[in-house]
Amino acid sequence: MLKFDNVDFGYPSNKIFSGLSLQMNPGEFCFLIGKSGSGKSTLLQMIYMNLFPQSGTVQFDKYDSKTVKARELPYLRKKLGIIFQDFKLLKDRNIYENLAFVLEVLNTPQKEIKRRINDVLTDVSLIHRRNSMPDELSGGEKQKVAIARAVVNQPVLILADEPTGNLDPETSLEIINILKKINAQGTAVLFATHNYEIIRKVNARILKLDNGKAVRAVFKQI
Ligand code: ADP
Ligand code: MG
Repeated sequence: MLKFDNVDFGYPSNKIFSGLSLQMNPGEFCFLIGKSGSGKSTLLQMIYMNLFPQSGTVQFDKYDSKTVKARELPYLRKKLGIIFQDFKLLKDRNIYENLAFVLEVLNTPQKEIKRRINDVLTDVSLIHRRNSMPDELSGGEKQKVAIARAVVNQPVLILADEPTGNLDPETSLEIINILKKINAQGTAVLFATHNYEIIRKVNARILKLDNGKAVRAVFKQI
């Protein structure tokens, strides 16, 4: 489903990846760790093909970084759900409209839009807030809406870029539990974080960015 093969990437003064290879299987849950500046966000951007390798290849689903066309990018991104640390909700639309927006640009019929939004808001326990504006919600609630928005398209892979970075430990745990539940329904999750408390609580493969490469890492369960 996802494969990085011998990827090099960097800026003139800053080499970030050097011969980086990794693979993820359908339905897998993986953590991506590494110190600040090690390239976690860069790696995620290479998956949604906002950035391209300088050599080597990234393959996601049927798309290949060497051959993908600009007009195919919206279809590639439709297969991904992306969650950021700072939520990125549209402030001038209510929660329902934030989710509907994603589906309307994909020409989904209204009845289907309504059904899917009800389902995902129920999954994150926020159905009662569907008419609220983003700024009326707490950080944790905003992140749950962002998760709902990421899954409403039924993606094959969720990319979460430090989604608990702005949240307290208890809310962070709620977020991870929601993502685990979504993963249990078959969606793969790649979770970039440096929150080691969370990593310890979840049994998943850990990829660590180290010296421009992705290496396997193990944390003792405590
Ligand atoms: P992480 O998400 O792990 O903190 P990033 O992927 O955001 O790391 O960044 C990796 C490195 O790339 C950092 O050292 C950052 O400063 C550098 N970087 C990002 N964008 C640019 C750019 N436009 N020009 C030069 N360096 C950049
Ligand atoms: Mg980052």
